[in-house]
Amino acid sequence: MRLDLTAFQPLVPELTRLRRDIHAHPELGFAEHRTAGLIAQALGNLGLDVTTGIGGTGVVGVLRRGGSARSIGLRADMDALPFHEETGLPYASTQPGTFHGCGHDGHVAMLLGAAQHLVNDDSFGGTVNFIFQPAEEGQAGARAMIEDGLFDRFPCDRVFALHNWPDLPAGSIRTRAGPIMASADRFEIVISGQGGHAAMPHQTPDAILAACDLVQQLNTIVARRIPATEAAVLSVTQIHGGHAHNVIPGTVTIMGTVRTFNPAVQDRIEASIRAMASGVALSSETTITVAYDRYYPATINDADAAAAALRACAAVCDDVAIAPDPAFTSEDFAFMLQARPGAYLWLGQKTPDKAAALHHPRYDFNDDVLTLGIGCFVALIHQELAPGA
Ligand SMILES: [Zn+2]
Ligand SMILES: [Zn+2]
Repeated sequence: MRLDLTAFQPLVPELTRLRRDIHAHPELGFAEHRTAGLIAQALGNLGLDVTTGIGGTGVVGVLRRGGSARSIGLRADMDALPFHEETGLPYASTQPGTFHGCGHDGHVAMLLGAAQHLVNDDSFGGTVNFIFQPAEEGQAGARAMIEDGLFDRFPCDRVFALHNWPDLPAGSIRTRAGPIMASADRFEIVISGQGGHAAMPHQTPDAILAACDLVQQLNTIVARRIPATEAAVLSVTQIHGGHAHNVIPGTVTIMGTVRTFNPAVQDRIEASIRAMASGVALSSETTITVAYDRYYPATINDADAAAAALRACAAVCDDVAIAPDPAFTSEDFAFMLQARPGAYLWLGQKTPDKAAALHHPRYDFNDDVLTLGIGCFVALIHQELAPGA
């Protein structure tokens, strides 16, 4: 059955105002105190059971209808990014160096809109847990909520999340069974020589030369050690060392990231980095330490939940399809999908005036897709918690 999006239109002016207010007052991970306060207040005004302070600044609102034991979790992230906004918008960030450059302000608005609608909607039976999580951008706020008992305190049969996606046209929905976002690892390699006069390189191991050698080798790992049937990326993103033209520095630091979808590939890449570092240390007479941090696992959709999500969203928009490929960006909803079956969806938001990529200084959430996002959440609840099902 087709869901009439005009039913959500009365919610839009206030949600747009709230979204832009959150945009103007962005907060970094685990510091979303004002944002969480606005959310808790809005959920409380609707009469939901509200719990705050879960995993730091996380908020959950619970809506129960009828006696069914079935339950669904819907998740939005709340945090902003630590960089400078260049949109010039009237509601641009008032906090220098803090910016909603990933549209989590829009995610909050869409999920609150779904709560506002579902409070007055009797075409479902069961429990909806509206989950507002902190610190998605690299600090694992989802894991913090789970470790704080999220799914014990608020049981969920399935969990779903929507992320706006500027690569896709506004109004389109994509998801897929299995991997949809990559795992994210970071490595930091410290090469220690001894340092000395550049005119007498025979007296000191050369950490710069060792770093150059190692970076070349690291870039062969994916090409030569990972099967061509697997997908992986290794990027060296920083090299720091040296201050003067006539001094060989004592240390050089290399940093970078690894993305893939398969833990066995992560194992192989980490082992290869360590082996190459040991080899370069031996040949260059330096000491090399490798710190390798697997901070987000791959985001893996449950096949049935992904199919269910596509079915539900087809009641809301015409352009609903299976995503042909996963993205190499990462997402800490991965932790929720390790704990519960569910699916992560992309909601297209690209229009001529909203075309900037996620994490770009001129990015802004597209308010034109607010009703679609609300519609997808509502359709999911209608389907997953259909009365009598
Ligand atoms: Zn982001
Ligand atoms: Zn994001």
